[in-house]
Amino acid sequence: MTNAPINNIGNLELFKGVWVLAEQADGQLESITYELLGEGRKLANELGTELSAVLLGSNIGNKAQALIERGADKVYLADVPELAYFADEPYAKVISKLIRDYSPTIVLCGATTVGRSLAARVAITVNTGLTADCTALAIDPETRNLLQTRPACGGNIIATIVTPGRRPQIATVRQKVMKEAAIDGSHQGAVVNVALTPDLLTSRTKRLRHVPGESATVNISEANILVAGGRGIQKSEHFDVIGDLAKVLKAGVAASRAAVDSNWISYAHQVGQTGKTVCPKLYIACGISGQIQHLAGMASAETIVAINRDPDAPIFNVATYGVVGDALEIVPRLTAEFKKILGR
Ligand SMILES: Cc1cc2nc3c(=O)[nH]c(=O)nc-3n(C[C@H](O)[C@H](O)[C@H](O)COP(=O)(O)OP(=O)(O)OC[C@H]3O[C@@H](n4cnc5c(N)ncnc54)[C@H](O)[C@@H]3O)c2cc1C
Repeated sequence: MTNAPINNIGNLELFKGVWVLAEQADGQLESITYELLGEGRKLANELGTELSAVLLGSNIGNKAQALIERGADKVYLADVPELAYFADEPYAKVISKLIRDYSPTIVLCGATTVGRSLAARVAITVNTGLTADCTALAIDPETRNLLQTRPACGGNIIATIVTPGRRPQIATVRQKVMKEAAIDGSHQGAVVNVALTPDLLTSRTKRLRHVPGESATVNISEANILVAGGRGIQKSEHFDVIGDLAKVLKAGVAASRAAVDSNWISYAHQVGQTGKTVCPKLYIACGISGQIQHLAGMASAETIVAINRDPDAPIFNVATYGVVGDALEIVPRLTAEFKKILGR
């Protein structure tokens, strides 16, 4: 443990180590944790420092090994009933205390509902900077500062942000942008059981029960195939055409913001800068023009099929296969063909 005074500019070099805040729900690690460990490993190697994971929960100790196998050299484990479910106050207090005690130089967190809330609170508590929604991270070879890249100004520019005079450098990272760390059963790591005092565990909010919202049931971020509809689908009822193809392909249904803003489909389905980032094997974009804010959420899909009646639509610049025509005619024909081929 170092006793580095937080944010003393003269002592920035005392801050060492890259941390990943592991995210779990009902005792299961979320995939964003593995993505952060994959990215964290690269940063730690570049800095020649340790990669650690911070895991909070109840009866969760058995998950520490999974974090070590994904590259964590150390796991800070806070395992008590009061931390069973995410709550802003105790989670932020425990993590802020750990930061004060161990002085990491970088802290990575998912740009998820939990991560966005937690990282902001922690950054305020330890009085440092936070860059939200990063899509790329790197180390500046000269200054050793973390280069935190994210879309800005409505997605029209890509900004790289640094936190030169504060530590730790806290960043939330978009889901499905970074590659998951591979499993390496031979990787060795240590588990540090964190001692917690009662004051760290108090909360002004109380969890009564959990009611899953639509965003919990519609998880387009995890889908292998997505069929997406945009303004070109023209009205809410026409989204059945998208749903039918999705059903045959066992795919998720996604949408552009134009479709969501028109109330044809709920926000949980929105892909893009202000929606979800997805990285499916196949993305079928129907009646979507391909504005930069939409591309920000899906351009890394393995195969992109675009159906648009405008041959100059920008979506064709990123599409693997393009079909020029009326989506409302083409999509039902695709559905019928796939039904025959797949026997569904
Ligand atoms: C700060 C900010 C954040 C944003 N965030 C997001 C975001 O997260 N996600 C997002 O999607 N957008 C986002 N946007 C909006 C974005 O700029 C676009 O307005 C939006 O993506 C357009 O959606 P669209 O492609 O469905 O509609 P349009 O741009 O109107 O395109 C419709 C397309 O459908 C085609 N078409 C029409 N009829 C048919 C037909 N019958 N068959 C086939 N093709 C047809 C047209 O040729 C056209 O290309 C954001 C904008 C801002 C400023």
